[in-house]
Amino acid sequence: MKQANSGFAPGYGDDAWTQRATDLVRDVFETDCEVFFTFNGTAANSLALASLCQSYHSVLCSDVAHIETDECGGPEFFSHGVKLLVAAANQGKLLPQSARELVLRRSDIHYPKPRVISVTQTTELGTVYTIDELAALGEVARQHELRLHMDGARLANAIAALGISAKEGTWQQGVEVLSLGMTKNGAALGDAVVFFNRELAKEFDFRCKQAGQLASKMRFLAAPFIALLEGDVWLRNAQHANRCAEKLASQLTAIPNVSLSTPCQANSVFVDMPKAWLEQLRRQGWLLYTFIGNNCVRLMCSWKTTDDEINALVTCVQAIANADPSCHSEE
Ligand SMILES: *Cc1c(COP(=O)(O)O)cnc(C)c1O
Repeated sequence: MKQANSGFAPGYGDDAWTQRATDLVRDVFETDCEVFFTFNGTAANSLALASLCQSYHSVLCSDVAHIETDECGGPEFFSHGVKLLVAAANQGKLLPQSARELVLRRSDIHYPKPRVISVTQTTELGTVYTIDELAALGEVARQHELRLHMDGARLANAIAALGISAKEGTWQQGVEVLSLGMTKNGAALGDAVVFFNRELAKEFDFRCKQAGQLASKMRFLAAPFIALLEGDVWLRNAQHANRCAEKLASQLTAIPNVSLSTPCQANSVFVDMPKAWLEQLRRQGWLLYTFIGNNCVRLMCSWKTTDDEINALVTCVQAIANADPSCHSEE
């Protein structure tokens, strides 16, 4: 960002920084994709989905999908009436049979016509779709002439966890449009909409502009992508976050009355612990999210999490457990 701030550059994406970031996305995904930068992930998702749909279409996703629960109706708003059809998530994932069931449920004119399957990788519950699971969803999309969109706000964590290449985790399994996030992995701002199916990108630039997502000083959205994609920094950041989460999960679950509510597969740890403990932790200053998942706490590790931070939390939970008589009942 500091480097991009020197000298003059053309506006609205006609600059060398944006070109370099775009080329890097193409290098990393090993394909000639179309790339558009937006200010955030909600815009990336909403505009990507809007561009894939007519107003009478529907988008199939899990009931914990960010597009369903955390975008304030953005996808529906920007697509002028598209309906999200949700299926019960299986540990955060949309199952191929659930997607198929939503498609086959109705085919009459009174039902919003299914048009897109949207999956989130890493999922909102911290789990990771395997390549085979993605391929199976890609196959459902192909069979029923649906487009496949991926919300990749945390794609790096999934790719790092699976130890696969970016193309194996996306277009090779049928993903046609990707919302590629960077803010959860080290960037200050900016998201990208990546069209692997270039035909779907037609007039997307106009859609971005109309929605207030065409940055005049686009070099500042592009610069963080360059810094993170060059030399695979994004993957090293993600690996670090994933390793921290694994450490946090194993240390926390060694404490009585603490268990994982979903498996720790990337950089988040969803834990169940007694409600009273959460109150104590909050009083000690810990910020705990309990609105994602079922009554559990979502703990996120990032590219900058340290061992000291992990130890600090584990020590607090351990101390609360030691003082809780219910933890000693079996002794
Ligand atoms: C954070 C996040 C987004 C993007 O959110 P913004 O705050 O709009 O950038 C999208 N999807 C998922 C799964 C996320 O976690």
